Amino acid sequence: MAVTATRTNLFGLDRQGLRDWFAQAGEKPYRADQVMKWMYHRHVTDFAQMTDVGKVLRSKLEAVAEIVPPNVLLEKQSTDGTHKWLLGMDPRNAIEAVFIPESSRGTLCVSSQVGCGLNCTFCSTGTQGFNRNLSTAEIIGQVWVAARHLGNVPHHQRKLTNVVMMGMGEPLLNFDNVVRAMSIMRDDLGFGLANKRVTLSTAGLVPMIDRLSAESDVSLAVSLHAPNDELRSQLVPLNKKYPIAELMDACLRYTQRSPRTTVTFEYTMMKGINDTPELARQLVKLVRKVPSKVNLIPFNPFTGTQFERSEESSIRDFQTILLDAGVLTMVRRTRGDDIDAACGQLKGQVMDRTRRQAEFQKKIEGGVADAA
Ligand code: SAH
Repeated sequence: MAVTATRTNLFGLDRQGLRDWFAQAGEKPYRADQVMKWMYHRHVTDFAQMTDVGKVLRSKLEAVAEIVPPNVLLEKQSTDGTHKWLLGMDPRNAIEAVFIPESSRGTLCVSSQVGCGLNCTFCSTGTQGFNRNLSTAEIIGQVWVAARHLGNVPHHQRKLTNVVMMGMGEPLLNFDNVVRAMSIMRDDLGFGLANKRVTLSTAGLVPMIDRLSAESDVSLAVSLHAPNDELRSQLVPLNKKYPIAELMDACLRYTQRSPRTTVTFEYTMMKGINDTPELARQLVKLVRKVPSKVNLIPFNPFTGTQFERSEESSIRDFQTILLDAGVLTMVRRTRGDDIDAACGQLKGQVMDRTRRQAEFQKKIEGGVADAA
């Protein structure tokens, strides 16, 4: 392919952005709608194949634009059907995206940053360090790669029904790119997902939760993990900046945007750390104030971690205390752990440390070998 540095990657523009882009090029804005259908409903990236776009415009597009998905470096499929992609974002950085099929839905877990700067002590991504934000094109490109793999056609052959921004990174620290990507996910000319079926998960950036409420319309999940500040600050250092009381107020405000809005609280269950009956009772008192449900996530171990997964009986007892108090509580089934695709196990490759260079090269070489 020719040098592409000056071309616009159309994966980076939402419908309005693409319409404006066509208008600025002296073309009719409805061309945006045609091109989006080719990109997102038919998985076509080659302008030459866009037969309802005139020939002259097609060559003009080829000169100034491109439709470039992330580079698939490695794919793995779990015995439970979970599928993980290692996607190259640039020559030095790769992230992971995971598709989780269930009987009634298919959920894609998408990354928002290369690495993460929040340093949650129990999260593998947190131990990687932070390198950079992903662009809108890099975020939506993850969905596109999965949709193409699945043969997903919005409204007809719907394999991908939900997206959760629960991969690598803190989505609210990459606000504009994430919000734009989520708008393409929910656009009928994009992936056509219902608003409720796109979920943003945050470790609790209070001011940005309010901004999200004002600027987008998606489901909100909050990584709580502890019901008091002392413990939460140890697990999620961001808590020192935005303590639980402020976070709960922000969650309550988020639910007040419309009558049926609820927040999902995520609570990773770690043996002897946050899984006692006393903490379950504290959690009841806390979450009762907000229309919400609780997702208990059995801790997923990774190399070098000091934490362990709670016993099944502790998880059950913890859940029972919440349920008996009337708190809707689910235990998230662990999926894809045989391929390190479970919550908190996503590592990708973050090239801010030189020793990772060698590992990365090995992975790429392995990936190319696998694919060949
Ligand atoms: N930064 C955002 C998005 C990442 S979401 C956030 O914190 O919400 C990833 C989810 O998996 C979060 O709820 C996170 O706390 C949880 N998680 C992280 N490490 C985990 C692990 N090792 N086992 C189980 N869940 C984990």
